Amino acid sequence: MRALARVLRHQPSIERMKRELDDRVALTTLERAIVALAHRLRERLDCRPQRCSTDRVQHAIDDEHRPHRTDVQVTLLEVLPGILPLEDADCSTELTRSFKKRKIDVLSGAKISDVKVGKSSVTMNVEVGGKKQPLEVEKVLVAAGRAPNIEDIGIKEAGIQMTERGFIKINERMETSVKGIYAIGDVAGPPMLAHKGMREGVVFAEYLAGQKHVHPVNYGNIPSATYCHPEVASIGMTEVQVREKKIDYKVGKFPFMASGRARTSGETEGFVKVIRDAKYGEILGAHIIGAHATEMIHELAVARENEFTVEEVALAIHAHPTLSEAIDQAVLDSMGMVLDA
Ligand SMILES: Cc1cc2nc3c(=O)[nH]c(=O)nc-3n(C[C@H](O)[C@H](O)[C@H](O)COP(=O)(O)OP(=O)(O)OC[C@H]3O[C@@H](n4cnc5c(N)ncnc54)[C@H](O)[C@@H]3O)c2cc1C
Repeated sequence: MRALARVLRHQPSIERMKRELDDRVALTTLERAIVALAHRLRERLDCRPQRCSTDRVQHAIDDEHRPHRTDVQVTLLEVLPGILPLEDADCSTELTRSFKKRKIDVLSGAKISDVKVGKSSVTMNVEVGGKKQPLEVEKVLVAAGRAPNIEDIGIKEAGIQMTERGFIKINERMETSVKGIYAIGDVAGPPMLAHKGMREGVVFAEYLAGQKHVHPVNYGNIPSATYCHPEVASIGMTEVQVREKKIDYKVGKFPFMASGRARTSGETEGFVKVIRDAKYGEILGAHIIGAHATEMIHELAVARENEFTVEEVALAIHAHPTLSEAIDQAVLDSMGMVLDA
């Protein structure tokens, strides 16, 4: 019997969220969810502090690594080919490898059907690569994304325009289609992240205060952070997106295995990957998987927001030994000049 685990801090609210999702989300959407299942979940673990989410895929993965430290078995199911669909495929592959090393079963490209909730377990069929297999578990966490919940607050009556996906339509000044009504944050559309909403609020306040030179929100430059182990963080485009846009690009990569600081702290998993424009050196995307990735990404966020090239990032002296040296080496690698590999 296979396991799946998720230790829930707020069990009742999770159950409620799941019920709400069942009501609101079609099965096909549910199938897109990550489902984390708990097998032989020990009583004492039920109150261990863990975050859980019905948020986007990354949030579901956030704490997925933790149960492995106990004897709880975890199975992670994802219908898409990679477990971090919004991130660069290399990070997804690396995280899968890392989870598997920790004995977490990862089944991507997995279709779930025939879910039956019993008294003490949940059974389902999981189809991977055309092969169906039964799965019985004790606990399930469904993370099926989030949807705007703004149907009944008079938005339509006020004549406010919505986007095709049901969010409130705003312009760069956070104005809705109705004069004097503004929207920021999750209701105003993805990415549904706290720092996106926060920045929209700041920009809106500046417009409202009559500030002349307001720096608009750069929606292509909102960092993403996934608090799993190893952490994953990114900014800008993935390699697939760059390819789709038919941009001529180069990739630079540096593994933490080759970083002195990573080795001394024993956290050698992961890498920094930088995608640069082949001609001008613009940083098109940056992807970090490894310890403290969510902290390190900001060097590249500053670089992108200020349109620094890879050469300009490499001009900055990076202290030794630091994890940030991996960024230096990755940008150098994108120019064929890596020093430390
Ligand atoms: C489990 C989980 C984990 C997350 N982790 C991260 C993370 O690590 N990093 C990150 O950046 N983001 C994360 N997010 C997303 C982040 O929480 C949201 O993007 C952020 O809270 C959005 O802020 P907001 O002000 O737009 O909306 P909210 O924070 O949702 O605030 C909206 C407020 O409006 C109130 N409200 C709703 N309806 C009404 C009504 N009719 N009348 C009056 N008040 C009403 C609500 O009660 C709420 O207080 C996470 C979300 C979840 C669910």
